[in-house]
Amino acid sequence: MIKKNLSPLLLTLFIVSGSYAQDYRWQQRVEYTMDVQLNVASHQMSGTQKLVYYNNSPDTLGKVYYHLNFNAFQPGSMMDVRSRALPDPDRRVADRISKLTDSEIGYQHVKSLLQDGKAVSYNVTGTILEVTLAKPMLPKTKTVFEMKFESQVPIQIRRSGRDNKEGIAYSMTQWYPKLAEYDFQGWHAYQYVAREFQGVWGDFDVTISIDPSFMIAGTGKLQNPDKIGFGYEKPGTTVVKSTSDLQWHFVAKNVIDFAWTADPDYTHDRVLVPNGPELHFFYQKNEKTAETWKKMEDYAVKTFQYLNEHFGKYPFDTYSIIQGGDGGMEYPMCTLIMGEGSLNGLTGVMAHEVTHSWFQMALASNEALYPWMDEGFTDFASSEAEASFLPQENPHARNYASYFALVASGLQEPASQAADHFNTTKAYGTIAYSMGSIFLNQLSYVIGKENFEKGMIRYYNTWKMRHPEPNDFIRVMEKVSGLQLHWYLRYWIGTTKRIDYGINSVIEREGSTYITLERVGEMPMPIDLLITYNDGSKEMYYVSMNELFGNKPQEDKTIPRIENTPWPWVNPTYTLKMLKPVSSIATLEIDPSQRMADINRKNNKWVMADKTTEYKEN
Ligand SMILES: [Zn+2]
Repeated sequence: MIKKNLSPLLLTLFIVSGSYAQDYRWQQRVEYTMDVQLNVASHQMSGTQKLVYYNNSPDTLGKVYYHLNFNAFQPGSMMDVRSRALPDPDRRVADRISKLTDSEIGYQHVKSLLQDGKAVSYNVTGTILEVTLAKPMLPKTKTVFEMKFESQVPIQIRRSGRDNKEGIAYSMTQWYPKLAEYDFQGWHAYQYVAREFQGVWGDFDVTISIDPSFMIAGTGKLQNPDKIGFGYEKPGTTVVKSTSDLQWHFVAKNVIDFAWTADPDYTHDRVLVPNGPELHFFYQKNEKTAETWKKMEDYAVKTFQYLNEHFGKYPFDTYSIIQGGDGGMEYPMCTLIMGEGSLNGLTGVMAHEVTHSWFQMALASNEALYPWMDEGFTDFASSEAEASFLPQENPHARNYASYFALVASGLQEPASQAADHFNTTKAYGTIAYSMGSIFLNQLSYVIGKENFEKGMIRYYNTWKMRHPEPNDFIRVMEKVSGLQLHWYLRYWIGTTKRIDYGINSVIEREGSTYITLERVGEMPMPIDLLITYNDGSKEMYYVSMNELFGNKPQEDKTIPRIENTPWPWVNPTYTLKMLKPVSSIATLEIDPSQRMADINRKNNKWVMADKTTEYKEN
């Protein structure tokens, strides 16, 4: 009936509202062209930046914001104050910023800024440049900013800087005036306080002039290898070494940031991953690195192969693993990692940072707001990748152990907080990395491993080269599994409520056994209860939770599964009936896979041999 009477006007309304729904996930775009000169004697840099900015939003913008992150490395900066105020600051920072001298600090000075050729007014507060536009940007328009800037590269304190611990001359990250992201939540113009970044998707064309003895590694593809030398040249060509500055020209397309390093003593190795990408390794070859880096190169290939297969195809054709920085940090198409130390340590950091190419450099969640989606998902996938070539019993066990330790410490906070706002470094680290990783491993318990694995690939293919939000992830998982999962996101990420289920009583009545399960913790979950009989046979009793609106598929086809009516989450207990006497049972166990982060696993298991009277009806 409605169809019959649908007028052209109504049709138009439907189409318009449809396009509004799509509009809400628009994405801004940037195109940077930068030309910088780094003076390796003064550690100062001058540069020009042309930025074409596309306003794809439905809003008119009167202002834009840039990050000037080098400014964080000055006494009295928010990074300095926060580090000195925290009870357990990052030891790499501690009070070091407060002691920097004028020649050791970092800064970024904007010398001039034009919008479409007209001067704009701007002001700098800490690490944020606030620009009042000469002409407001209308929806679906672009504008061109032209900036001249001068910077000083700080002594390496955190991530960025010169002269890192292992003697790498320049780790150039967060090194240029970088436009802040604007999305459906508004501007993400955060001060640089400690951690985690967010970038606008776009293209970078970067030319760096530097003393000819320095080799550069970084994001993007070198455009002029024939002029550079250093093993970059095509085989058979000879490069005449210049005595004046060399100009390195890089292009990177569809990335959220651009990082680079420079050092006179780099060795450059190249290894091809079958079906791509080509891997580049840059490190100072010496007795501390020569052996471990060669072996790690092989592991890096295996990491890419595993991730390509299980989490979606890496979207670029090159990737560089570069000695630099102060630990390990991810950037588009490259990572900076410390190069010395054991092969195990080096491999772990490499695998973690490589995995960020999926969870941050392709699935670019806002890591300042959702560090668990960035660090946690990375931790999960890199643990699985590493276990594929360095087998271990349970690659996720250490995350559960650190989560349980955080709960016991009383320092747990909701995971939904912005990265810089946690009360302790310990809580941030455990929550972002371990709880974020458990979020996925536990989700595979909730929806079943097969659904979960399909879901991770579908998530990647749906949201790569965009900024997925927590709800985008959970919606993909809901669609793949046919189960409702928003309760799971709310409880695990939005609260500090814990999971604790137990076997409360086992009673025999008229030849049947009644098993009463108890929800001791506040967070509800579906339950796998494995029954092992005296003859060694097993049955899985599955109790869904009512908010799931369904059952996960049977995971282990070798164990018969009995599906029970769902457990309403408000009920503290649930009683199962089995048509067998208690004496036939050897053991009962809740979640034998141990994927559920049950804070008290002692009450999960019931062993007949330990019981003498409890099962008897009295
Ligand atoms: Zn990480």
